[in-house]
Amino acid sequence: MDKKKTTLITVISILSIFALIILGGLVYYTQISPGENAAYAKEAALKAAAAIMAERQSSMFEKTEPAASPVAEQAEATVETAAGEETLSSEEIRTAEDTAVSSGAPVPAETAAPAEEPASTETPASTEAPAPTETPASAETQSSAGMPSPTPTPFDVKVQLQRSRNDGSFWEGCPVRDIELLTPNEYSRPQTALETVNNLVIHYVGNAGSSAMDNRNYFESLKDSRERSASSHFVIGLDGEIVQCIPLSEMAYATKERNKDTISIECCHPGADGQFNEYTYWSLVELSAWLCRQFQLDPQQILRHYDVTGKLCPLYYVEHPDAWQELKDAIERRLGEIQGADPA
Ligand SMILES: [Zn+2]
Repeated sequence: MDKKKTTLITVISILSIFALIILGGLVYYTQISPGENAAYAKEAALKAAAAIMAERQSSMFEKTEPAASPVAEQAEATVETAAGEETLSSEEIRTAEDTAVSSGAPVPAETAAPAEEPASTETPASTEAPAPTETPASAETQSSAGMPSPTPTPFDVKVQLQRSRNDGSFWEGCPVRDIELLTPNEYSRPQTALETVNNLVIHYVGNAGSSAMDNRNYFESLKDSRERSASSHFVIGLDGEIVQCIPLSEMAYATKERNKDTISIECCHPGADGQFNEYTYWSLVELSAWLCRQFQLDPQQILRHYDVTGKLCPLYYVEHPDAWQELKDAIERRLGEIQGADPA
């Protein structure tokens, strides 16, 4: 467009110069030939000027038009193309976004739960869910945008474990937890994939008065001390605080042969008898009920460490079976409340 303008200005300037020259000539002619018919001379001069102008004009437009036209068309075509490309690319972006949403892109989830998985600690490919198993989770993700997430159908523990890792919406409704994942190491966080979840297992820390972070840090210290292998997915402290040490998609070292298909919860306790205080107790009820909901577990099937290995853990609830039954009943009631609040 600029080129066209420039050309037109040039043409007009040249024509103006010619017109001035011709007018100057006309004035000169009438002045030096006063005897001749001024009107005739003027007419002739004007005709000549018109002819010259017409010739110049046509020759200029012959030159400029064909030259300017393709440029203009090219320019317009470029604009059209650019606009077309712009539209196309924004459509592509929208399409990509739609695709990302409908395929349950893990990015938002990771953004939502950034601490869930340190970049340097990628586990073996086996823990990465294959694409097909992500599809039910993505439907869940999409529908959860507008309303509370319903339980995925069909239920798949592997999908749930994957979601716990990649999909922030998995954690909706979970009691507040402090994510303090252990540094991957063979003594407390081997990063072995947890393939399924068949039970929760409850423990007591056995160290009266210690905090959740004390116990978490003890697990962390095992990577250097190497004195034994131990860890737990969660530790619940004396104030009811929940510290998460291991992602749910990974095994913890807590329950020997049942590490491979259980989620472990360690509980702090104020006294040597191992009884949980009310903060720890009700936080345990809340977390356990939520985990039962997420993994479709029966609260009555929750295990004590004792039930698996015979170890006196959690001590008070081994020595008081009625208190243990009461705890499971409380979790079952709480689960009923949570599920009652779920959309049908
Ligand atoms: Zn135990």
